[in-house]
Amino acid sequence: MSDNSISLVYPSIPEFDASEVGARALDWLVTRKIVNAMPTNCILSSRALGHPPGSNAFDMVAEKYQSDRLFLKLRFNGLHLEMGKKMFADFGVSEPPRCPACEKSWSDAAHAAAHSEWLKSRTSHLNPKICKCEHCGHVSSIDALKYRFTTVFASLGLTFWNWPAEFRETMVDALSIQLKAKPQVVHIHI
Ligand SMILES: [Zn+2]
Repeated sequence: MSDNSISLVYPSIPEFDASEVGARALDWLVTRKIVNAMPTNCILSSRALGHPPGSNAFDMVAEKYQSDRLFLKLRFNGLHLEMGKKMFADFGVSEPPRCPACEKSWSDAAHAAAHSEWLKSRTSHLNPKICKCEHCGHVSSIDALKYRFTTVFASLGLTFWNWPAEFRETMVDALSIQLKAKPQVVHIHI
């Protein structure tokens, strides 16, 4: 069986706030027993541990997926708290984007260079204009480039492995109020 994930990604949280806000998100989810506090080897990562589903995990899941209980039995079914700059892309695809001005596709090399420039930049995650189009010279921030699939540049993401594909809106909104930030949702299938 293939694995998939649903991520709540918060692009408005700056890098220097990510650990503090991430800890608050975890605390909120643990208090409501959506995930367990004790980390285990339950996520697809060789470097990090995750938080397994709690006894109220289904409070987080949309109404129409309430009978979808299979993930509780899977090996990888935890929350991965992702803190630090990362490109979150739907399907896990990092296809080169198009320029917002001339619409031409960027080369892989130009895209890789812009990505690494963003990872290195220390000013803020809401970037200055660091991307220069190789075709027309238009200068933009990395999140202004036109990606085919949802692509979010952020320093905080809550990635739930193999959970049902849709979360309950009222819960996502309640968490947004707690974190003072709204998420974008990114799905990955691998
Ligand atoms: Zn261009």
